[in-house]
Amino acid sequence: MDIHRLPALADNYIFLLHDRQRNRAAVVDPAEAKPVLDCLETLGADLVTIYNTHHHGDHVGANRELLAKYPNLEVYGGVEDRGRIPGQTVFLRDGDRLSFADREATVYFVPGHTRGHIAYYFAPGSGETIGDLFCGDTIFAGGCGRLFEGTPAQMVQSIDKLRQLPDQTRLWCAHEYTLGNLKFALTVDPDNGDLQERFQTVQGDRQRGQATIPSWLGTEKRTNPFLRWDNPAIQARVGMAEPARVFGKLRGMKDNF
Ligand code: ZN
Ligand code: FE
Repeated sequence: MDIHRLPALADNYIFLLHDRQRNRAAVVDPAEAKPVLDCLETLGADLVTIYNTHHHGDHVGANRELLAKYPNLEVYGGVEDRGRIPGQTVFLRDGDRLSFADREATVYFVPGHTRGHIAYYFAPGSGETIGDLFCGDTIFAGGCGRLFEGTPAQMVQSIDKLRQLPDQTRLWCAHEYTLGNLKFALTVDPDNGDLQERFQTVQGDRQRGQATIPSWLGTEKRTNPFLRWDNPAIQARVGMAEPARVFGKLRGMKDNF
């Protein structure tokens, strides 16, 4: 399975999964149709599946247009998003399994950003060591999604589930927010050497116009404050230790950063 990263709108990424053997494609969170259709044309591939993480317009914006062009498309999304994802045909629950190309995936129910948000984890292919997590607006590189429909406690529980996955997991986040996120991260975790180093790297990448997605889950565990509510230095910084309170405090600070 090849993964193509397609920039869309102002700062979104759409991910196109290509099954080279069968020449079929799936697309994660199609914000816009044009980049998807252009990529399909270049590959000469047929689109068979949409995987939506949640119902926001910058993630489902092209569902209808793609359905019009490919009427047999299956449209996957969370069961809690029933009625909010255009054209949805498959209603997923936590722990559901699916497969695409040569890869098996597990669905994680991760409410917080929205009440219906799900993530798709594709385990490494046979003989491989790298997994792929499509986490929408739950975890960003260096940050996390805003809490539009959930509580800090829910988001901690959701991120904690994803945090259990192996370090060798590529994180395919739906937005290019990394540089701004790391600027904030440095204000709450200033003595973290891994974070300082990451900031330098990302700053250089962005100056050269390079994408910072995918990121590695191992990197996020070491440098993303929103996965580090149990880190003593961060707890001392915000003056609290209970996970949901630490997380809520960090999220509130970031909202006003
Ligand atoms: Zn969103
Ligand atoms: Fe979004």
